[in-house]
Formats: sequence, C-alpha cells, structure tokens
Amino acid sequence: MSETFLCELTGSFSTPAAGNPTVAMMEMAYRHHKLNFRYINCEVAPADLANAVKGARALNWAGFNLSIPHKVAVIKYLDSLGESAEIMGAVNCVVNRDGKFVGENTDGKGFLQAFKKVDTPKGKRIAILGAGGAARAIAVELALDGASDFTIINRDLKRGNELAKLLKQRLHVAAEFNPWCSNYKIKKTTDVIINATSVGMVGGNSSQLDLDTNCVLSNMIVADVIVNPPQTNLLRSACNVGARTIDGLGMMVNQAVIAVQYWTSFEVDPNVMVTELRRVLKVGNIKQS
Ligand code: NDP
Repeated sequence: MSETFLCELTGSFSTPAAGNPTVAMMEMAYRHHKLNFRYINCEVAPADLANAVKGARALNWAGFNLSIPHKVAVIKYLDSLGESAEIMGAVNCVVNRDGKFVGENTDGKGFLQAFKKVDTPKGKRIAILGAGGAARAIAVELALDGASDFTIINRDLKRGNELAKLLKQRLHVAAEFNPWCSNYKIKKTTDVIINATSVGMVGGNSSQLDLDTNCVLSNMIVADVIVNPPQTNLLRSACNVGARTIDGLGMMVNQAVIAVQYWTSFEVDPNVMVTELRRVLKVGNIKQS
C-alpha cells in the first residue's frame, strides 16, 4: 500500500478536559497497533458543543467521546442512537457510520466488566450517588444484568427523579430517588455504593462527597468512577473498613477498548492502555478489571 499522509481523526469533547487521561492511552494503543488514527482531547464549553459536532462532521472524524457535561446534550446533534444509548438517554461515544453520526454508550458496559471481576450484580441493592450520564449508564447496565433495587441520590431533583423513573418504567426494577441532604446517610442494607458524580476529580470543584462515611460497612462493595486520582476519599474510607473497592480505571480502560473497536473495527490490547495510564497518572498497582 502506498504511503498516506492523511490519518483518521478521533477525540474527546468535554470541559474541564485537561485532567482527562484518555488521550494518552488511546494514542498509545493506536501507535502500538500501528493504526493510522489520532485522538485529540478538546476543551469544549456547553455553548460550543453544536459547532464542535459540526466541525467533526466537516472534517469527517471517525468518531469521538463525550465527557462532562455533554453526554445528554449531544443527543440533539446526532443522526441516531444505538440501543443502550437510547434507553440511557446518554451518549459517551459517537461513531461515524457511512457519514451518519450514531450515538453509543460504552460507559456502563465498561463499568459492568469491572464490577463482574469482583461480584455478580444479580439481586444486589445499589445506591448510586449522582444522576448524570455516568450514573444513567451504570444503572441501566446493572439493571439489565440483574441488580434488583436502586436508590438514586442526587442534588438536582429533576435529574434524580428521572433516573429512578427510567429504571422502574423501562427496566422494571425497584427504584427510588432520595434528594441529597447534608451528611447523607446510606442505608445499612445497601450492597453496593457507587460514586457516579464528578466529586473527587482533579481540577473539579470539590474533593469530598457530602456523605456520612460511618455508613460505609465492611460487607459492601464501593465503586468510584473517578479516574484521576484513582484512590478517592470515598475509596480510602471503604478500604479502611475492609470493604471491597472498584476504582474508575477499569471502567475507563474497558470502555476505551470498546470505543476503539467501534471506530477502527480493531480490538486493542487493554494492557497497553493500562500501562500507559499507570505511567501518566504516576500510580502503581492499577487493577485491570
Ligand atoms: P454529568 O455532568 O452528566 O453529571 C455529573 C453528576 O455529578 C450529576 O449527578 C451532578 O449532580 C453531580 N455532581 C457534580 N458536582 C457535585 C457535587 N459537588 N456534589 C454532589 N453531586 C455533584 O457528568 P458524567 O456523569 O458524565 O460524569 C461524572 C463523573 O464520572 C466525572 O468525574 C467523569 O470523569 C466520571 N466518569 C468516569 C468514567 C470512567 O471510565 N471511569 C466514565 C465516565 C465518567 P446534579 O445533577 O445535582 O448537578
């Protein structure tokens, strides 16, 4: 094949974008497997999202990820949605299929793979902190895989109620919404606590969840979606009482492998991504879940 000086473009739209290490592991995977693709991490404000998507169309991007705060807002700029993205009402991965931008969701699937390394979701009572894109994706995949009871805790009443309603009406599981009150106390009967808010993220507004950590018990599984830093205050509290923990890195790597498969039709080696994440985040002992 003759040399080409034109590569396929992929990337991410979010704000704040600077703390998101996805670009490092994507670019490393492309280089490692000699895929003629690039991944560009873009700072995109909410008011600029429509033009960012238009730009990606004009440049014929192969696809792109969406992170905070665009996963729900992007839907109105797309041509169609994949099945799980349609149920969740959130898109984290856009795929250019023959010139049409199709919204998919790989977040929940990535989380589920990480969770299943620790336990089965079947019959579990789940408390989810947050009701944004990540929370919706995780809740839907856990419900599809047999989790039976959900408590959604969120500051914004509309978003929280909507997620509980979605779980009840579309997935037929028990679900209630609790508004987030100060020093929130999670029920002792909870099996799994998941932080699906942005609290704890480097560069974010807050590092500490407004939660009574005495409610975290040793028989619980505690998961956090935060990638940077992987060891959040919540996970530290859980480790201190002997609870099993799941950090955000396994979810991130798993969903990235699925995204690259959508864009390139190639299955990359997840270990290449894990090693690069470990290097850029300067952390040891990352579990590849
Ligand atoms: P969204 O903007 O869609 O939702 C953000 C959520 O965080 C909302 O529920 C919001 O509550 C809540 N929140 C924000 N600040 C606070 C606060 N100070 N106290 C309580 N709740 C708060 O974002 P996403 O769902 O897309 O992302 C959430 C987090 O998940 C991010 O940190 C993101 O990086 C991470 N993530 C990690 C992934 C991984 O692979 N590990 C994949 C996807 C996301 P409210 O509705 O009340 O405003």
